[in-house]
Amino acid sequence: MMPPVGPTAILPGARLGVMGGGQLGAMFAMAARRMGYRVEALSDVADCPAARHSDTLHVVAYDDARSLQRIAAGLDAVTFEFENVPVHAALAMASVSPLRPSPEVLATTQDRGREKAFLVEHGFGCAPHRLVHDRDMLREAVEEIGLPAVLKTASFGYDGKGQRRIERAEDVDAAWDSLGPQSCLLEGWIEFDSEISVVAARGADGSTAVYEPSRNLHARHILDVSTMPAGLPATVIAEARRMAIGIIEALGLVGVACVEFFLTSDGRLLVNEIAPRPHNSGHLTIEACETSQFEQQVRALCGLPLGSTRQIAPAAMANLLGDCWSGAEPDWAAALAMPGVSLHLYGKSEPRPGRKMGHLTAVAETVDQALANVILARDRLCRRTP
Ligand code: AMP
Repeated sequence: MMPPVGPTAILPGARLGVMGGGQLGAMFAMAARRMGYRVEALSDVADCPAARHSDTLHVVAYDDARSLQRIAAGLDAVTFEFENVPVHAALAMASVSPLRPSPEVLATTQDRGREKAFLVEHGFGCAPHRLVHDRDMLREAVEEIGLPAVLKTASFGYDGKGQRRIERAEDVDAAWDSLGPQSCLLEGWIEFDSEISVVAARGADGSTAVYEPSRNLHARHILDVSTMPAGLPATVIAEARRMAIGIIEALGLVGVACVEFFLTSDGRLLVNEIAPRPHNSGHLTIEACETSQFEQQVRALCGLPLGSTRQIAPAAMANLLGDCWSGAEPDWAAALAMPGVSLHLYGKSEPRPGRKMGHLTAVAETVDQALANVILARDRLCRRTP
């Protein structure tokens, strides 16, 4: 008898679809096209970063199942670049072409309530939380969890959008007025020492690969700077990597995911969020690792061997928000004169405050040097230094 045949690999030359047209879709397309694939991006707007990097951009409404299925019929495999893709749109694509990660993984990770239930069910630590559907439930949840706490919309939140911190009992009504009436999650406020994230990948054959954790600093709830290695005790690093792999295995995820953690002062790792796709904190893998998170996404999607996650240079990444454009043209030359600094611009036309326009990555001999260089490069770019 012939041995069982593994999942058929999707080889260079094939057509890959990516749902979503943002920078993550653009960087996926760049990696895939470098490897000889054709990329078709799907977006509900024409002017998007992926438009410039894919072979075809389909401007399509996510509720137009018939069009989604017609597009999927021309694709060998499909992935997504953001987790707010409606599940029914993912199901429409998946009914015609393999979609990885699956619509089930998307459904779990795009809803904070379902995501937390998954973590609890599988024994992964996370912040104390309660799902609330109305004002009275919120008051009860505040009684149980205590203050300070943070109220988050169950779905469609990102970069701190759809979140209100609640300091005092008097703030409860205002928080509900600003986010309700819709399902929300109340989370106890974690006094963390640091925030780290781990990008991990899983192939259709169950093989896994995990990167070094990055250490992340946020400003105004938006990722500001990431460094890799994270400079934490080896036991913490090992546990974070173990948990990230355990989570993607328990999800049955095929693709790339990022698990964000809070590290508490007593050394506990609590899962904050799971993103079922490459992540902003993993952008530095492009310069710092043997395989970038985007190439890894292509490999996992196509059933190819996962690439080495080995880090080849200490690195730091700094986001470039639209704020940097206020006043004058950024000083590109000053940033690029810095040693080991790479510029990534997403091609967004309008630099609004808080909008992610690009990022800088610095590689150096040490992570402290990489961090100092990337901060200085950004200060110079944004004309914040004399
Ligand atoms: P999120 O969109 O849930 O990832 O939240 C964005 C950022 O807000 C996190 O990276 C943290 O810096 C902060 N944050 C969110 N939830 C909590 C929490 N329960 N305790 C402390 N800080 C939080």
